[in-house]
Amino acid sequence: MQVDYIILGQGISGTFLSYYLQQQGKTVLVIDTPQSYTASKIASGVINPVTGRRIVKTWLIDELLPFCWSAYTEIGNLLAVSLIRQCNVLDFHATPQMQEAFASRIAEDASLLCVRGDKAYWQQYFRFNYGIGEVNPCWLVDLQTLLPHWRQYLMAHNALLEDYFDWKQCEIAEEKVQYKNITASKILCCEGVGGARNPYFQLLPFALNKGDAIIAHIPNLPATNIYKQGISIVPWNEKDVFWIGSTYDWNYADVQPTAAFKSKVEAQLDYWLKLPYTLTDHFAAERPANVERRPFVGLHPVHSAVGILNGMGTKGCSLAPYFAHQLTAYLVDGLPIEPLANVQRFTQVLSR
Ligand SMILES: Cc1cc2nc3c(=O)[nH]c(=O)nc-3n(C[C@H](O)[C@H](O)[C@H](O)COP(=O)(O)OP(=O)(O)OC[C@H]3O[C@@H](n4cnc5c(N)ncnc54)[C@H](O)[C@@H]3O)c2cc1C
Repeated sequence: MQVDYIILGQGISGTFLSYYLQQQGKTVLVIDTPQSYTASKIASGVINPVTGRRIVKTWLIDELLPFCWSAYTEIGNLLAVSLIRQCNVLDFHATPQMQEAFASRIAEDASLLCVRGDKAYWQQYFRFNYGIGEVNPCWLVDLQTLLPHWRQYLMAHNALLEDYFDWKQCEIAEEKVQYKNITASKILCCEGVGGARNPYFQLLPFALNKGDAIIAHIPNLPATNIYKQGISIVPWNEKDVFWIGSTYDWNYADVQPTAAFKSKVEAQLDYWLKLPYTLTDHFAAERPANVERRPFVGLHPVHSAVGILNGMGTKGCSLAPYFAHQLTAYLVDGLPIEPLANVQRFTQVLSR
């Protein structure tokens, strides 16, 4: 079998990279090993334009918000599914200090933040004392629909191999990749946390972290918003079903669900939520984060037949489509990759 590109991994990164390369008329074979819990499979799908205690704008967000709206709409049109909607975050301030911090950010820059005036309406669902701040707009993407639908699309186009990719069986030449009976001009690595074991890229400064998520049945809670107070409650893929998360653990012995997180969620829901709820599932996965919080995009500085799209950290839903598009434009038309994301910034490390 001969293809233009082997793409290793079908998380959000491999999904969008295979989509854009196919749109450009390139042939791809995506190799992905089925796993129940990967970062993309358990992510809540939120694209939030602000971050941190100071509620500052996230990197590149002015480009990412419109780009992602188009990207998920277009791939959704191809697959005949709806994948993105507006779903603003409502931040139920836990302390007067948090309420003040939100108000002072509005005084500095009101473009994405406002104070909700309908406290009485939300009091039927939540207990809170210090008001509600709204982040507007936020997008919510449906990865639970995108990932399996794209997998089926690839299968129907003979572009998917469900298998564990074994680097020992891969030969890399200057402009040629041979893997078993598959020949390609390049291999593009979108393995998420698997990238930290990739023989060509393992020296990149990966800093994996673990995140837990819980699924809850909460009848009658409106699916119109994402609710935050210590934890986030995010509408999931069925009526009355919500995703609750998350943790950012840097020290962990395994990737099993953490009992302490479940206790924390129960305590917070008992205090905050006025509706009855049932926890129905609990899972965890590692995020492919890195110390710089900037993705790894482009070709290996020494082995130009090997490329990468990884390091999405906590922001894969927005960064993966954007940089998959940029990597495609680089491969097909030679257009530049954003220098802060280009993996060539690690030329010294990767040349060892
Ligand atoms: C709890 C949690 C919540 C999150 N919520 C959000 C959110 O709301 N918004 C947001 O933007 N981001 C969120 N993230 C982060 C987001 O999930 C990641 O940034 C993103 O999913 C990374 O996607 P990826 O495709 O690069 O990697 P992955 O999702 O890890 O995909 C890699 C794929 O490669 C395959 N693979 C790896 N090695 C091999 C091999 N050798 N052979 C075959 N296949 C292989 C894996 O099976 C997998 O399918 C969250 C993460 C977690 C853990």
